[in-house]
Amino acid sequence: RQAAFRTDLSVLLDQVGGGKESLSFMKRRIRRLAQQWATAANRLDAKLGQRWRDQKKILVHVGFLTEESGDVFSPKVLKGGPLGEMVQWADILTALHVLGHNLKISMSVKELQGFLGVPPGRGSCPLTGPLPFDLIYTDYHGLQQMKQHMGLSLKKHKCHIRVIDTFGTEPAYNHEEYATLHGYRTNWGYWNLNARQYMTMFPHTPDNSFMGFVSEELNETEKRSIMQNKVNNMAVVYGKEASMWKQGKESFLEILHKYMEVHGTVYYETQRPPEVPAFVKNHGLLPQHELQQLLRKAKLFIGFGFPYEGPAPLEAIANGCIFLQPKFQPPHSSLNHEFFRGKPTSREVFSQHPYAEQYIGRPHVMTVDYNNSLEFDSAIKEIMRTKVEPYLPYEYTCEGMLERVHAYIQNQDFCETELGSPSGSRIIRPLFVPLPNSTALGWASNVTAPIAWPPLSSLRLLVSQEGQSCVEACQSAGFICEPAHFGFINNKEALRGLEVQCEVVDSEINHILPAFSVMRRECSLQREPLLFSCSGHSPKYRRLCPCRDFLRGQVALCRDCL
Ligand code: UDP
Repeated sequence: RQAAFRTDLSVLLDQVGGGKESLSFMKRRIRRLAQQWATAANRLDAKLGQRWRDQKKILVHVGFLTEESGDVFSPKVLKGGPLGEMVQWADILTALHVLGHNLKISMSVKELQGFLGVPPGRGSCPLTGPLPFDLIYTDYHGLQQMKQHMGLSLKKHKCHIRVIDTFGTEPAYNHEEYATLHGYRTNWGYWNLNARQYMTMFPHTPDNSFMGFVSEELNETEKRSIMQNKVNNMAVVYGKEASMWKQGKESFLEILHKYMEVHGTVYYETQRPPEVPAFVKNHGLLPQHELQQLLRKAKLFIGFGFPYEGPAPLEAIANGCIFLQPKFQPPHSSLNHEFFRGKPTSREVFSQHPYAEQYIGRPHVMTVDYNNSLEFDSAIKEIMRTKVEPYLPYEYTCEGMLERVHAYIQNQDFCETELGSPSGSRIIRPLFVPLPNSTALGWASNVTAPIAWPPLSSLRLLVSQEGQSCVEACQSAGFICEPAHFGFINNKEALRGLEVQCEVVDSEINHILPAFSVMRRECSLQREPLLFSCSGHSPKYRRLCPCRDFLRGQVALCRDCL
């Protein structure tokens, strides 16, 4: 069946159900953004023209909200606990509904079992028939529950699963045996999925797919009125939980207070939290739309280093604030910071909100060393002088999210034997045309390549520096690493085209491959497609990197991707 865009959200709102605070939060959000989604649906509909879109049967199982996983979130919704996840799930549900798919929503193990048609009770009763869904969106909690209740059949059906995974999972952590042998084993990873089945909140490592969420978009009239009504000396602090204000914030809060009126939205029960200085005007935790109103007036939204990578800075920038955030030197990661410890990634985080720093930047975002009071002081003065317009990257608009999710649903297929698999790469032999600069190769477009998405026209082969990952190598050339293309460059032709001097070419299981050592004249190809990794790097190796182009404001998609 063909999927038809939906602009009426009432069926979805009924499906979400009620009772818990987390569900009410999501429903309020869905209602508040209903008009934006409808407009976006109409625009994307027009943009895609008469293109056929398959209607998929989709199950969304929100594991972290189930009683069985302890539902630690719901009680925190009104207390300043993490709302980012709730924001994202609300938006994913809305996007799938608006795109016109056949949606079932489960928030308990019982509902999950009902939808999958597995008999109730624990353990050993696997699903015997075919999977009644084309796609299942869940999270790590949900995955665990599916394993318990689907038994062995999970393995058979896992190519249909998509895991919503805020901070991402790198391939080395995802491969069970490799992770166990090489010290990448965590509480979360090792599901042996294709790493692109993990979908993140921001475009972190391109090894995963970027799912995202949305932020409110303003029309020209609203933008103009916001710019006229900005209060130049008004700052709002990012941090809705009192603990985010603890320790060492006094010095720069004092500086900030010299110039600006400081507002906060810190949750409190009866008394003012002692962590929040008396000069701060604390509004308490606000409903989302009231926070937006506050941000519309404020000139500055200031981060204290935590929470990492949440939605609020995008909302602030979309409402015309400048976001000021601390630089992290040394960077934070699972190796040195409690928050990231045990997360299945070694990604290094160089500021509180790397997306804001790298993808948005000045004048909307300033990233400074908070320990340097001179630098901090002059940043505040600069912010008060600078005029900025509200800004929202396209990928965080409703239309951008619909476009991206549409493209994934229609094109990503992890059930087919992928071209990246060893048998696949034997079938088609890519042709490479060496460019003048011998480290860059173009893809010969006369090759008829089957079922590649992103299409091979987007492929650019690059070689990294020693110690550099493909994430960095592609980025420094203005591209993005595309793990789907690894299968096409993991061969001797690619090495030959690069004029690499290989005394031996072997094939091994290691997440930095394909790569070569200049010193030892050794070249190695990848033997395990699950370990193709954009993020891997090693000091002695230069890596072969499959980069691709991307659309401005929609990094998940290449020029010919739609
Ligand atoms: N938020 C809110 N009221 C507040 C402060 C924040 O509704 O007083 C919302 C905000 O609009 C954002 C969400 O909380 O969409 C998540 O915010 P944050 O960036 O703090 O991320 P988290 O750490 O909660 O995931």
